[in-house]
Amino acid sequence: MSRVAFIGLGRMGHGMAGRYLDAGFEVAVWNRSKAKADDLIARGAKWAASPKDAAVDADAVVTMVADDEASRAVWLAKDGAAAAMKAGALAIECSTVSHAHALDMARELRSHGLIYIDCPVTGLPEAAAAGKLTLLVGADPADLDKARPYLAPIGNAIRHFGAVGSGTVFKLINNLMGAVQIASLAEGVAIAEHAGLDMNLVVEALSTGAVASPQVIRHSKRMAARDFSGASFTAALRHKDAAYAVALAETLLPDVPVSRAAVEAYAKAKAHEPDGDEGKMIEIVSNRKRPA
Ligand code: NAP
Repeated sequence: MSRVAFIGLGRMGHGMAGRYLDAGFEVAVWNRSKAKADDLIARGAKWAASPKDAAVDADAVVTMVADDEASRAVWLAKDGAAAAMKAGALAIECSTVSHAHALDMARELRSHGLIYIDCPVTGLPEAAAAGKLTLLVGADPADLDKARPYLAPIGNAIRHFGAVGSGTVFKLINNLMGAVQIASLAEGVAIAEHAGLDMNLVVEALSTGAVASPQVIRHSKRMAARDFSGASFTAALRHKDAAYAVALAETLLPDVPVSRAAVEAYAKAKAHEPDGDEGKMIEIVSNRKRPA
């Protein structure tokens, strides 16, 4: 039986780890706070005392943690996974990290004799729990082939962008554009409200017109109703992704002013309520006072 170590059991990772159990893998799990592992342990996962402990004898270690700092800790700290992984094992980074970090990890984990692929994902937590994520992969083709059996339980589409780091490049572009769209939508909705338009009609028109991206369809309803139930992506995570994307853009382009504005908008949303839904951007925009 193939052994997987799954590290990071937040909104996304919890469902993903469950998919390996459903698919018949032997699964060891670790999360910074243990309570999130309880029902996975009841379903047959083995609790590990550290990422290092989880990685012993694993054929693949899959990580789904918040950011660069968390990723570095779970791979490379003294009790990190790399300290126990067997040579030739797969290190699969599903967290959304910065491009520079993905390249660093590839270098450092290769120096431990491991195969590293970056595999950030798109899809909400429900898709994670259903194995229906889209996997955005950066890997040598031969490494991707080795990883496929470990990707099949968590995703129903693999988009292979090229060498290590390229999956992360695409993921950051994708989430940066999401930040721009949601921040801009909040301003559009607030303008419509202040102008006294019928908001049911506005939502219907936005959701069926030329700007009706999935983000606009999802968030226009929630913003107009101020109903953020079913929250899946936080202001802090959206800010992190947009900031990582702009850091990458700075290495490639002279300036990206719209992207920078989205990072600033999400810095405010993060300061307002870091763990609040990203759609709460509307509260910031609509509560802003006009200068006297
Ligand atoms: P989340 O619910 O906030 O979970 C974050 C995870 O990271 C938790 O397991 C947390 O541990 C762990 N963590 C944070 N800091 C850590 C540290 N310093 N050391 C060790 N572990 C640490 O976030 P999520 O929504 O599952 O997102 C996880 C990743 O997926 C992020 O990179 C995010 O950008 C990406 N993503 C999210 C979505 C989405 O819709 N939510 C979609 C696609 C991609 P604790 O449980 O102990 O806090």
